Amino acid sequence: FNGTIPPMPWFGMDIGGTLSKLVFFEPKDSITAQTEDETQLLYNVTKYLTKNSVYGKSGHRDAHQQMDNVKICNRIGTLHFIRFPTSEMNNFLDLSKKKGMAASVSTVCATGGGAFKFEDIFKNELNLKLCKCDELDSLIRGLLFTVASNNNECYFWSQCTEDEQCSTQVYTFQYNKYPFIVVNIGSGVSVLAVYGPNNFKRISGTSIGGGTFLGLCSLLTGCNTFDEAIELAANGDNVKVDKLVRDIYGGSYSRFGLPGELVASSFGHMNSKEKRAQVSREDLARATLVTITNNIASIARMCALNERIDRVCFVGNFLRVNPISMKLLSHAMDYWSNGSQKAIFLNHEGYFGAIGCLLSFDE
Ligand code: ADP
Repeated sequence: FNGTIPPMPWFGMDIGGTLSKLVFFEPKDSITAQTEDETQLLYNVTKYLTKNSVYGKSGHRDAHQQMDNVKICNRIGTLHFIRFPTSEMNNFLDLSKKKGMAASVSTVCATGGGAFKFEDIFKNELNLKLCKCDELDSLIRGLLFTVASNNNECYFWSQCTEDEQCSTQVYTFQYNKYPFIVVNIGSGVSVLAVYGPNNFKRISGTSIGGGTFLGLCSLLTGCNTFDEAIELAANGDNVKVDKLVRDIYGGSYSRFGLPGELVASSFGHMNSKEKRAQVSREDLARATLVTITNNIASIARMCALNERIDRVCFVGNFLRVNPISMKLLSHAMDYWSNGSQKAIFLNHEGYFGAIGCLLSFDE
């Protein structure tokens, strides 16, 4: 934007492989818009977005994540957080047209693969130019801004060996912030090492991520949504599906400190016809969740070890409504590092790319 501040409304958009995330800045200060048109459009957009929490068939506003009193480009306001499946992009475009967005908003900041994939459609359908930002730059910028704006943004799970006692506590990230690792668990996974505000590198990744969980879980259980998959997993037991160390050793493998309850072979029981007859959809969902999560934990641990960094921030929408995975990640990091590595989570888990993208014209 070369130092010029674009007219409102301000949006940041992150068009991912599974979910599109939209962040909207609602000004709350007394500065008036420059033109009548801008005032009217801003009024209409604000009214529609803030009076509703469901848009069309599949758009949702995460009201619990709303951020008040944020300062962007010397304006004070509220950030609103909206998501919809990327597969519904055509409906989103229709709705935007209907709400008069096409006529007036000229530029929207967008990131994620979809900012490239859908660039022409935005141009042709909405007459909207997407100002494209890199997704990992946006992720880090959004994360640092959010952590600096909210004292309560970060948390960790304590005492995760005892499930009943396991609870969240605020983690203070303000001092000695750098370096840290970010593990972004979206459809796939990216692992970044962050050394300073403008200094990070992508150190690893895996295609076995949130999309894999949802894909495999749908195949195995016939579930239709992520929330349903998590609900099933919450009521299942992976021990019926996975082969544990004790199933092989009769107890622990003590010479190398492997406890009997450890999974030795994910889905290892499922080659047996009898065992297959005993498992429920819930058990299969749980085993899928545990398999994917433990694999990510293992990659995260190795990355942290390699980089000699002990704090690992886990973000991405895979962690949405998913305490099972957060507890597993926390336990795995803590247990296998003898307490030296720490798993940290953030309240705005899947929105940092969209936030960072919105901030891009503040530079
Ligand atoms: P991407 O940018 O690749 O879409 P996200 O960070 O948005 O990545 O995470 C997508 C993942 O989040 C999905 O693969 C799924 O595991 C999980 N997820 C959480 N909520 C939903 C939802 N409502 N619909 C689909 N997937 C969801």
